[in-house]
Amino acid sequence: MSKAIDDMLQQEVEKRRTFAIISHPDAGKTTLTEKLLLFGGAIRLAGTVKARKASKHATSDWMEIEKQRGISVTSSVMQFDYNGHRVNILDTPGHQDFSEDTYRTLTAADSAVMLIDVAKGVEAQTIKLFQVCAKRGIPIFTFINKLDREGRSPFDLMEELEQVLGIRSVPMNWPIGTGRELCGVYDRMKNQVELFQGNDHSTIQVQKVEDYNDPVIREMAGDYLHDQLCQDLELLDVAGDQFDLEKVQKGELTPLFFGSAINNFGVQTFLENFLQLAPPPEPRRSTAGLIEPTNEKFSGYIFKIQANMNPAHRDRIAFMRIVSGKFQRGMTVKHVRVGKDIKLSQPQQFLAQDRDIVDEAYPGDIVGLFDPGIFRIGDSLSQGSEIVFDELPTFSPEIFSKVTVKNALKHKQYQKGIDQLTEEGTIQVFHTVSFDDTILGVVGQLQFEVFEYRMKGEYGVDVQLQRMPYQFARWIVDDQIDPSKFRINSTLVKDKKGNYVVLFENEYAMRTAMEKNPTAKFLETAP
Ligand code: GDP
Repeated sequence: MSKAIDDMLQQEVEKRRTFAIISHPDAGKTTLTEKLLLFGGAIRLAGTVKARKASKHATSDWMEIEKQRGISVTSSVMQFDYNGHRVNILDTPGHQDFSEDTYRTLTAADSAVMLIDVAKGVEAQTIKLFQVCAKRGIPIFTFINKLDREGRSPFDLMEELEQVLGIRSVPMNWPIGTGRELCGVYDRMKNQVELFQGNDHSTIQVQKVEDYNDPVIREMAGDYLHDQLCQDLELLDVAGDQFDLEKVQKGELTPLFFGSAINNFGVQTFLENFLQLAPPPEPRRSTAGLIEPTNEKFSGYIFKIQANMNPAHRDRIAFMRIVSGKFQRGMTVKHVRVGKDIKLSQPQQFLAQDRDIVDEAYPGDIVGLFDPGIFRIGDSLSQGSEIVFDELPTFSPEIFSKVTVKNALKHKQYQKGIDQLTEEGTIQVFHTVSFDDTILGVVGQLQFEVFEYRMKGEYGVDVQLQRMPYQFARWIVDDQIDPSKFRINSTLVKDKKGNYVVLFENEYAMRTAMEKNPTAKFLETAP
């Protein structure tokens, strides 16, 4: 490849930022996303964020269930340009009922923005999503939202981040007053004050200052708030962590920003700091070693498969994260698992409503590929060599239901449906060793509803789901497995590949089983 093309690839890689926003429902993810898109003048939207939430669109082709409930079942991607950067936001469903897909989408991100409600602090779904990010060691940036409301003290929240998530934080800015008294923030990195004015906090005045002791701040904010600010910042200077880029990049320290998404307050500075500090597309591990994004040969992997986004077509869309090289429409690549060359002729940058055809894309970008049933989650695609990327993580199911088909004559379609839907990776299927009952395991309850709906819609099969009392699945590795040992508050099943798995009703049953079987290993996911 010529040097000019090399340089171009390098530039395209360097300007990209691919991240996900992780939060608990209601923290303000939709609002923040919208504001970010506004700054960028989005060039490709996965349906406007609001429309998706309100589900107003008559032309909407999301799954019916999504429309009915007014929630987003699917994860999609939004892309915009800002200050010379190309930004990809991976959207993750904001509903309580999330799925393995949500987790897996995070593997396609190079960094994460953790959004926290100032009054609620760290919540359940934040913890789960944080843990997935922390396992990969990706940088995490924290935005404390809804500062216009009464909330917890910033110190309190910092302590909670450390206690609950085990991550230290470094405030990049600091609120001047909170709730109704909030009048602005002090930017610790740039030594400037950003003031809001008016009741809706909307007008922002930016003022450079010497440091936080500057009397200018006193004039703007009054004695009381300025004294408070000085006290807080002195304490931070003495007892807080210093900003350390290396630690941030390793995910050991999270830069902390305060703001209010709905008032568009602190969002722009957040975006600018984030784009500067967040990493460009990272290399990925493979059988051929680390694949650098600037590697001239195209490569990518499938991290998510979405069926029937448009019910008029029976197609599936496979979401591919580009790892290296340049993607071009119509290019021929090796589908490594099946050992065949395929032509990528119908790539789509993913949009829930409008599907935009992509002509070219670069590392960090996500492209939706038309999938006539040839892809599986984790598949690698590459140009030239046979690169296989590391397997994507699987997650331990937490909710279980026994499934039966209402009409026995439909058994064949039922089997086909189960096979195909489990291949998409949001439900796992198990068979009990005792009666060969079929048990499905999922991460979020909604997956059962989606399953039931799709079995009927796509395979014409009515299924009955009966909730089982299990809460944990553990794959057992042992020389000798004695089914009689797993009867009390647990049951022995086999997964699709024939591995033994025990489902437990509670933690106590699980611990007891572990103690009684000291030679066995109990794994959270398939070995
Ligand atoms: P999501 O569920 O995380 O996507 O949250 P939304 O963006 O839908 O926000 C949930 C609610 O919080 C909505 O009523 C928003 O208007 C509100 N909200 C979002 N950001 C702010 C904020 O900065 N201040 C206040 N007071 N409310 C906010």
